Amino acid sequence: MSELFGTNGVRGIVNEDMNTDLALRLGKAIGTWIGKNKTVAVGTDTRVSNQMLKNAVSSALMATGNDVIDLGEVPTPAIQYYTRKNTDLGIAITASHNPPEFNGIKCINGDGTELIGDMEEEIEELYFSKNFELVEWNEVGQRTSDDPLELYKKAIKKKIDIKAIKEDEPKVVIDCANGAGCCLSPYLLRELGCDVVSLNAQPDGSFPGHESEPTKENLKDLIRLTKETDADLGIAHDGDADRAIFIDENGEFIHGDKILTLIAKEMVQEKGGGTVVTPVSSSSSVEDVVRENGGNLIYTAVGSPIVARVMKKEEAIFGGEENGGLIFADHQYCRDAAMTASKIVEMIVKEDRLSSLLEDLPDYILKKRGVECPDDLKVRLLEEVKKEFEDEDYDDTDGLKIYYDEGWVLIRPSGTEPKYRVYCEAQDEEKAEMLVSEHQDRVREILKELR
Ligand code: MG
Repeated sequence: MSELFGTNGVRGIVNEDMNTDLALRLGKAIGTWIGKNKTVAVGTDTRVSNQMLKNAVSSALMATGNDVIDLGEVPTPAIQYYTRKNTDLGIAITASHNPPEFNGIKCINGDGTELIGDMEEEIEELYFSKNFELVEWNEVGQRTSDDPLELYKKAIKKKIDIKAIKEDEPKVVIDCANGAGCCLSPYLLRELGCDVVSLNAQPDGSFPGHESEPTKENLKDLIRLTKETDADLGIAHDGDADRAIFIDENGEFIHGDKILTLIAKEMVQEKGGGTVVTPVSSSSSVEDVVRENGGNLIYTAVGSPIVARVMKKEEAIFGGEENGGLIFADHQYCRDAAMTASKIVEMIVKEDRLSSLLEDLPDYILKKRGVECPDDLKVRLLEEVKKEFEDEDYDDTDGLKIYYDEGWVLIRPSGTEPKYRVYCEAQDEEKAEMLVSEHQDRVREILKELR
C-alpha cells in the first residue's frame, strides 16, 4: 500500500503530518508529474486550514510552470465536473467527513475521476526523490479564479424533470453540515422547485452544527426538523458534499445501502437494462434488483475511485457504495451528492413517498464487525484466511468473500485502520448474528496463531 496516499488522497492532522511543507512538496510532485503549461483547478471544502494548504499547493504548481484556477469553497463533485470540462487536472483540498483538525489533498484526473494506483505511485516517487522540474523565471504559472457552480448546476438540471418537481413543490429539509454543500444544495433544490428548509447552511470549518460524517447520531436535528416541519424528505451531506444520506417523510433515518439499491433499480428500469457496479461489501439487494430488471452487476474492490474506473471501462450506467456515494455515468464518473439528492426528489414526486418506494426492496440484514490487527500482520492473515476457507464457494476480489446457503461473509483488511473488517449478510437477524460472530471468532483464532 502507498505510504502517502490513502483510499481518498493524502490526509492528516493540520500542522502535524498535514502541513505546508508537505503541501508544497506534494504540489511540486504533482506539477512535475503533469508537466508544465497545464491548467489545474483547485477547490476546497470549508475547513479552517484550507487557505493555508491551497496557497502552498498552488504556489508549487505555478513553480512547475502550471496555471491555477481557484474555484473557492465548493463541493468536490463540482471541482470534478469543472476539471473534466475545463482543465488538465483538479485538486480538492478536503478531509471529507473527518473531524475539523484534519485536512487532505486529493488529485482529480482530467476526465473528472480520482487518481488511483500507478498514477499515485508515480507522484509518490517524485515526492520522495524530490526530482522536481522547476521552470525558468519567465515560465512561472499564474493564478486566476472562476466559479464552477453555475456550470455544475446546469449539468444536474439537464438530467432532472424540473417541471414535475415544480408542480408538486415537495418540502425538503437540507442539512449541509456547515460544509461545502452550503453554497450549492439549498439553492439548487430551490431552483428545482422544492420548498426548502436549510440547516447548518453557513460555511464553518469548526463544524458547530455536528461532525461532518452523516451518521444517524449526527443527524438528530435533521430528523427532528423533518418531522416537525412535516417535510417530504430530509437530506444530509458529508463535509465535501460528495455523499448524500436521506430521512424519509416519517423522520426515519435511511441507511445508504437502501438508497443505493433503490436508485440502481430505477436506473436499470429507466435505461431498460445496463451494467451496475458496486463493491463486494454491498448488500445482495443491489444484485437482486438489478438482475430482476434485466441488468448486469459487476463487483469490485472497496473504494469509490475503483468503482468509477470499472464503470468507465465497462460502460456501466450506475454505481456506488453503501455510504451514500453514488455515481451516475451519464452525469460524471464520481460520487455526486447533489445529483443523488435531485434524483431522489424527482422520484418522490413522480412515483411515491420515500418510505413506500423502499418497502418494495428486498430485505436483508447486514452486519459489520472489527478485529484488531497490526498493519504488519495484515498480508499474512489474509493468506491464512484464504487457506482456512479454500473449500468454500468464495470470491477474492477484495479480501475474501465466502458464500453460504444462508448468506455471505466478507473478511477484509481495513485500508485506513489497524483492523480487519468482517461483514456479513443474511435473510434474518439470527442467521446474520450467527455468521458474523462465528467468523469474527475464527479470524481472531487465526490471528492468534500468527503472533
Ligand atoms: Mg466526502
